[in-house]
Amino acid sequence: MPAAALAPEILAKYEPVIGLEVHVQLLTATKAFCGCANHFGSAPNTNVCPVCLGLPGALPVLNAKAVEFATLAALALGCEVRERSIFARKNYFYPDLPKGYQISQFDKPIAEHGFIAVPTAEGTIKRIGITRLHMEEDAGKSLHDGFSDSATRTYLDLNRCGTPLIEIVSEPDIRTADEAFEYLTRLKEILLYTGVSDCNMEEGSLRCDANVSVRLKGAPKFGTKAEVKNVNSFRFVRLALDYEIERQIEVIEAGGRVMQESRLWNAAEGRTHSMRSKEQAHDYRYFPEPDLPPLIVSPEFLAETGKKLPELPEARRVRMIAEYELNTQNAFTLTASREFADRFEAAARAARNPRRVANVLLSEVGGRLKALGLEQEQSPVSMTGIVLAADLLDEGQISSKQLKQLFDVCFEKREDFPIVYDREKPQQITDSSAIEAMIDEVLAANPKQVELYLAGKKTVAGFFVGQVMKASKGQANPALLNELVMKKLEG
Ligand code: ADP
Ligand code: ZN
Ligand code: MG
Repeated sequence: MPAAALAPEILAKYEPVIGLEVHVQLLTATKAFCGCANHFGSAPNTNVCPVCLGLPGALPVLNAKAVEFATLAALALGCEVRERSIFARKNYFYPDLPKGYQISQFDKPIAEHGFIAVPTAEGTIKRIGITRLHMEEDAGKSLHDGFSDSATRTYLDLNRCGTPLIEIVSEPDIRTADEAFEYLTRLKEILLYTGVSDCNMEEGSLRCDANVSVRLKGAPKFGTKAEVKNVNSFRFVRLALDYEIERQIEVIEAGGRVMQESRLWNAAEGRTHSMRSKEQAHDYRYFPEPDLPPLIVSPEFLAETGKKLPELPEARRVRMIAEYELNTQNAFTLTASREFADRFEAAARAARNPRRVANVLLSEVGGRLKALGLEQEQSPVSMTGIVLAADLLDEGQISSKQLKQLFDVCFEKREDFPIVYDREKPQQITDSSAIEAMIDEVLAANPKQVELYLAGKKTVAGFFVGQVMKASKGQANPALLNELVMKKLEG
């Protein structure tokens, strides 16, 4: 166990190797192989039928929408979609699996050979390979807590049995916990853009198992891996991986060997612990599902589905950076969801200067939302308000200081910007002689800066503009102020 942090020179000797397995529930109206509602939060055991309960003689019928969603996700992840894939039975006994097997795909999954591009710490882009994407069904849920007799009993809710899933397995291409975090963030973003899942981790719509091993840098072979299960947030994946990497290095440094095993992440303790070893691993006795024919994805279906792909986050960022002159950081924030990007783009097109819209939206409104712990949807300021604010700023009708004051009022009173602006119409000093008088005062009070300016340090002009703006309590017309400062200095 990593008791104390390992010395950096010890850590530096090793290279972590990480591969992620992600289960994603598909947003279909009904389950994968029956007509039961696929709905989170229904009363226990109400969305069940002979098929998903695994009663004898009941036969599965594949949900076409699940195939469409799996295909859409596969295409969005750059996978090759197999024309003929095979469903297989994965056999194991567990109380939440009344059939005694899970319908999955084994050696012929619906899609393979994809990738996700992730930005690295060095500012480059790295492709993490996707080994496979296959379709399967979810199991039910054991309820261990929350009942008066929970100490002695476990309850079962079988509503989740037969929920359609895709499992996305990455190549062991990931090298740091941060990279794993990035991979998951980009994966979730792509899945949300395609609309195949809500990716809600609290409700279990997206679940991640993290495989990790370490090896001495330059070693030709991978080390023995441990699989960390039950990690229910991306932040925890990062913590669990960092913990596990150090634990494994410590084992090896002490002369021991890493065991191949499944481990559980314990968020409360911030550590992983052993769940079952390789010897206790399941033998799933996979065999082709006799109740389902091979799944055929025809070239026509593939082409039709391809047409439903939206512009994906990465492509959208590249386009938006070019179209609106955004920086990379802002482009990432603005494309975090399709809805947000759509709203930004509508505002950017309506406004005089898209860059200003980005700045007002992210710095002024975004900053206040963040400070208050609010979501974008809870903002008192509408996109119309943001367009107005950006235009007023761009036309020099209000100063940035006045803008801040107006937004303060919007957030205090929970009122939209146009309402606050109309009511409080901030004073603007547009009288040249009044502004000139303030400039003279500032110049007289700062002879050293004037000298600097005259000696060629032109950036000092900004200092004077700032000082006068401050003296005017933010009320000087910015365009006029700029012009007059330059005139004074040059004249
Ligand atoms: P298993 O047979 O134990 O299920 P797989 O080969 O199917 O293992 O791989 C499962 C996941 O573990 C994949 O995401 C893969 O990239 C990753 N993986 C495989 N070998 C290693 C390793 N030595 N270290 C880290 N991750 C690995
Ligand atoms: Zn059913
Ligand atoms: Mg495997």
